[in-house]
Amino acid sequence: MSMEHSELDTAMAKLKQQNIRLTPQRFAVLEYMYTCHGHPTVEEIYKALVTKYRHLSVATVYNNLRVFKKLGLIKELTNGDSSRRYDAVTKEHYHVTCTNCGVMVDVELPEPSPLKVQIEQATGFAIEIYQVEMQGVCPDCLKKSNQLIVN
Ligand SMILES: [Zn+2]
Ligand SMILES: [Zn+2]
Repeated sequence: MSMEHSELDTAMAKLKQQNIRLTPQRFAVLEYMYTCHGHPTVEEIYKALVTKYRHLSVATVYNNLRVFKKLGLIKELTNGDSSRRYDAVTKEHYHVTCTNCGVMVDVELPEPSPLKVQIEQATGFAIEIYQVEMQGVCPDCLKKSNQLIVN
């Protein structure tokens, strides 16, 4: 199967290892994180799942995210706008966020990250964790604004 399925399996195995019960709601949140390919907020996850899990609450979503975060299955992003976002890609990577539509895209760069190396050289720090978010206009929005000018 696709990669996201094996990642989901690995995550489920890790929960089992820690004796954390995989309730239907917990599974739903975990599955959403591994299949949404985005950087959802608690509210976005809640809204996506509540139609199917009518007893779901924002607090339940948040508590599950906390469990996953503690086990290193997901990352919490605190930069950018004030709403916390969650990321199933736990490997260090950069983000670009569209100032127009808000889409957040992962950027994979060669290891070690050139920016990290430059900052280590400039500061003498041994960088362990980084969150880099650059903001701009995404290709879709650029295309739309160009079309507006042309038409
Ligand atoms: Zn955009
Ligand atoms: Zn990401």
